[in-house]
Amino acid sequence: MPAGSVVGARRSMSEVETGVGILNCPETNPTVSVARQALVLFGSPGSGKGTQSKLLVQHLGIPQISTGDMLRDHIEQGDQLGVSVRDTMRAGSLVSDELVNGLVAQRLASPETDKGFILDGYPRTLSQAVVLSKLLDSLHIREIVIHLVVDSDRIISRISGRRQCPVCGSLYNASSRPPKVTGVCDLDGQTLVIREDDKESVVRERLAAYDRQTRPLIEYFRQTGRKFVEIDGSSESPNALFERIRQILCLQGFPG
Ligand code: ADP
Repeated sequence: MPAGSVVGARRSMSEVETGVGILNCPETNPTVSVARQALVLFGSPGSGKGTQSKLLVQHLGIPQISTGDMLRDHIEQGDQLGVSVRDTMRAGSLVSDELVNGLVAQRLASPETDKGFILDGYPRTLSQAVVLSKLLDSLHIREIVIHLVVDSDRIISRISGRRQCPVCGSLYNASSRPPKVTGVCDLDGQTLVIREDDKESVVRERLAAYDRQTRPLIEYFRQTGRKFVEIDGSSESPNALFERIRQILCLQGFPG
């Protein structure tokens, strides 16, 4: 199926992708439904999930649930959970399904997710996808999966130039999204850092883990009739890509 195709979605979503009807979706949509909804941002490491999530959080006012960020927080706090996952993450492998399923279920029980939420980096295995589907069905939450499709050469170059603010989590890239002052976060002035697992050998393992354990979910999303949209995430600026995602969500009645 080509990038931009939609499975299980209204016809208007394919209009978004071809550019027809795109102007029908205003900056803010007063008629949107306020039902609790989930956006699953899906894609390989370096596909732009984190950057897009952060832009969407500002626009939609719903929280990002990033399993990677949650795990890194535990590592930073030095608690038992953090200690138990540190070596696995440093090696670029996935941590156990049970553990991340528990973290996500806990976040979904919190009232901050009442209007909806963005899942970034979850689900990442078939078993996680099955658990999530059951959980969302039981909570009557509709989800839309957006797959950011990016080729692997571009991913390696993106990740190698990636810098992150250790405090607010903002992501930068030396070539595609540089901070105003080199090495300093635009938002809070903190010195930017390179993530431990962004070293080249670890990136290769993360990409291998994606191919082995995560890519097969594309078939799962299609077969189970989830709303599934593929977007070419390679060629556009983060802001242009954000605008396309915003249009898709707007037509799907996402809050915002
Ligand atoms: P990226 O998508 O760029 O790999 P993340 O921050 O999402 O970055 O993930 C970093 C690491 O955190 C992964 O390599 C893995 O070790 C762990 N991790 C994050 N999410 C999951 C998940 N859903 N299941 C298992 N491990 C995860």
